[in-house]
Amino acid sequence: MKYAVVISDGMADAPIEALNGKTPMEFANTPCMDSLSLKSEIGTVKNVPDTLPPGSDTAILSIFGCDPVKYYSGRSPLEAAGSGVILKENEVSFRVNMVALSEEESDFNEKIIYSHSGDNIEGEDSIALMKSLLEDEAFLNMTRELNMRFSLNPSFRHIGIAADIEVPENGFVPPHDILGSRIGTYVNAPDDKVSKIQRRIMEHAYEVLNVHPVNAKRRKEGKKAANSLWFWGAGRGIQLPDFEKNYGKQGAVITAVPLVEGIAALSGMKSIKVEGATGEINTNYAGKVCAALDALRNGADVAVVHIEAPDECSHMGDMESKIKAIELVDSEVVCPLAQGLAELGDFRLLVLPDHPTLLSTRTHDGTPVPYMLYDSTQNLSDGLKFSESDAKNGKFFAQGHMLIREFLSE
Ligand SMILES: [Zn+2]
Repeated sequence: MKYAVVISDGMADAPIEALNGKTPMEFANTPCMDSLSLKSEIGTVKNVPDTLPPGSDTAILSIFGCDPVKYYSGRSPLEAAGSGVILKENEVSFRVNMVALSEEESDFNEKIIYSHSGDNIEGEDSIALMKSLLEDEAFLNMTRELNMRFSLNPSFRHIGIAADIEVPENGFVPPHDILGSRIGTYVNAPDDKVSKIQRRIMEHAYEVLNVHPVNAKRRKEGKKAANSLWFWGAGRGIQLPDFEKNYGKQGAVITAVPLVEGIAALSGMKSIKVEGATGEINTNYAGKVCAALDALRNGADVAVVHIEAPDECSHMGDMESKIKAIELVDSEVVCPLAQGLAELGDFRLLVLPDHPTLLSTRTHDGTPVPYMLYDSTQNLSDGLKFSESDAKNGKFFAQGHMLIREFLSE
């Protein structure tokens, strides 16, 4: 038996008036998932415990079988592991987003945060902007106060690793939670020493980045300037239980997102890099499916394919793109994956979002999500459709980390 899991990040949502009271999942044209759901077990699973912040960090720990209550220590240590950075005992890591702030106001507090991703800054542009900061003496002096070094990523997601500091108990809120807001209340809220230094760094970063040639080029292309940084998601290093030891099965993970690579690395699963996998709606879907099937052909028992696009579209508040992203998950991922799996023999396929990302609030939500569990050897149908409302009538996993156990049981 081979096993595949498709994580459609942030796919679940609430009913929307403009969609005649349907959710994007219900509205989207998804013939492949519809037909699989006729023979699948449909239910709901709570991947985010009520005591923890809703996000892919907590939710995907659950999907991989790790109880977040026990193992969650903040988002960035997981991401750091994905970039090959294993934290020492005295180290604390932070997610460092490139963000886009409004340019008109001279007072930093008055600026509006337009984008948590620097308006989708990617590749060499993002690295070039970070490098300009790392050559700036004033920037370096401030980061020295935190003994901070950086691990750069060709995306908006960089990592800062500080040494011998306290973890700020209430650091900066996730930038995707305050899109469209003036930042003053948020950058001045944390009153610990570390956050105060970081606030100065963020303001200085704006001065350096806003006038950088990369941003001049972006404005010409009609994009927003990726003109500041945002520190969040602090945490110390952790160890996760070994996936193979736990389940007696070898896992491989295909994702473009460092967080997911990190959870995989810390649980002893192999991550496979796919050229052109971006974490956006234009990702290389076929390449991801090929990589999953190759891994299964070459000894892996479980392949996890993570698709970030529905989440990113929700953060942008872009309903049409979210629907399109869900349709692409259906036609470009679930459909070819199920066909490929069938050629390999008996298989089980689990499709689920990690958490809802609501178009109405443009952020994550911790409520249970629908899952679809298909088994090629038996009809598991409970007469339900793969949608938020139908799934509520199915089986319910109150602890998200228990679902994978059931999925992988003989
Ligand atoms: Zn998200």
